Amino acid sequence: MKRLISVCLIIMLLAFSGCAQNNAIDSEPYSKEFFAMDTYMTVTAYGKNGKAAVKAAKKKVKKLDSLLNAESKDSEIYSLNESGEAILSDDTASVLKSALDYFEFTGGAFNPAIHPIMRLWGFTTDNFNVPTEESIKKTLKLTKADEISLKENKVKFNLDGLEVDLGGIAKGYTSSQLIKIFKDSGVKSGLINLGGNVQTLGLKPDGSEWNVAINHPYLSGEYLGFLKTHDKAVITSGGYERNFVANSRVYHHIIDPSTGYPAESGLASVTIVAEDGTLADALSTSLFVMGEEKATQFWRDNRNGFDVILYTDDNEVIISEGLKDSFSTELQTEVIS
Ligand code: AMP
Ligand code: MG
Repeated sequence: MKRLISVCLIIMLLAFSGCAQNNAIDSEPYSKEFFAMDTYMTVTAYGKNGKAAVKAAKKKVKKLDSLLNAESKDSEIYSLNESGEAILSDDTASVLKSALDYFEFTGGAFNPAIHPIMRLWGFTTDNFNVPTEESIKKTLKLTKADEISLKENKVKFNLDGLEVDLGGIAKGYTSSQLIKIFKDSGVKSGLINLGGNVQTLGLKPDGSEWNVAINHPYLSGEYLGFLKTHDKAVITSGGYERNFVANSRVYHHIIDPSTGYPAESGLASVTIVAEDGTLADALSTSLFVMGEEKATQFWRDNRNGFDVILYTDDNEVIISEGLKDSFSTELQTEVIS
C-alpha cells in the first residue's frame, strides 16, 4: 500500500511538472526584427505556433511592401500610377478600397491621391524643397480621389496625372493582416511593432495587459505616456516622423489636402486606439490634418470603435473618456466625453 501511494505521488508529481513545463513553453516568445516599409519592425508571438506564425508574418510584410510602395518600380502601385489602370491583387485592392472609404468618411482629410503633392515637396525622393504657391495650386488639381473608380479588383483613374499614395494606411493594414495570421495559426498572445505603431493580440502570457509606450514627438527617447491595453492597435501620426527644415521652418510629411501644405493644425501628434489597425492608421493621419477642434468633434460624432490621444503644440494631452483609466502620463490632461 505504502509503495502504491509513493508510485501515485511520483506520477502526480511528473504530471504536475509536465504541466508546468507545457505552460513555460506556451509563454515562450518567438520574435523577429527586420527593416521594411521604411521602418524597423518587431513581430513577436507567444506559444507553440509562434515560430511559424512569425515567419509567415514576416513573409506577408515583405509581400505587402513590394505591392504597396509607390516609390518602388516593381510595385503594383508604381505601375498603377504609371498607367492609370490595373487589375489589382486582393491585398492592394483591399487597401485602396479602405483608403477611398476613409476619404469619404473624413470629408477628404484622408486623401489617397496625395502623391503628386508628396512628390512636389520632395518627400518621394528626399530631395526636399518648398514649392511655389503656383505649383502647389496646379498640383492640387491632380489630387482628386473621387476620380478613382474601383470595382472589385479593377481600378481606373479618370484624370490624367492622378497618382495614389497609400503611405498613410499601409502599416495599419499590415498590422491587422499580421494579427489575422497570428489568429489563424492559433496564436493567442502577440505583439506587432511597426516602427512605433503597435497592434496587440490577446493579453500578455502572464495574463496582464500590454503596456504600450507612446513616443514623445520632440523629446527623443522619452514618452508621452503609457497605455495598458489588449487586442488593440495603437497607431500614432506626427509631423516629427518625417520632415525637413528650410528658411528656419519645419515642413513635415502630413499634408492638408485642402491647402497642399504640411498640416498646421496645432497638433504635435495624434494616437488612435482601435481594434482595427487599418482604421487606426487612416484616422491618425486624418485627425492630425483636422486639428484639435475638428478632431475632437469627429471623435464625438463617431466615438464607437476608437479612442484618441491628441498632443497639442501647447503641450497639453487630450484623451477620449474610454482611455481615462488605462492611459498614464505626467503631462496635463483633458478628458473629452
Ligand atoms: P502616417 O504616418 O500614417 O500619418 O502617414 C503619413 C504618410 O501618409 C505620408 O508620408 C504620405 O505618404 C501620406 N499622406 C500625407 N498626407 C496625407 C493625407 N492627408 N491623407 C492620406 N495620406 C497622406
Ligand atoms: Mg496613418
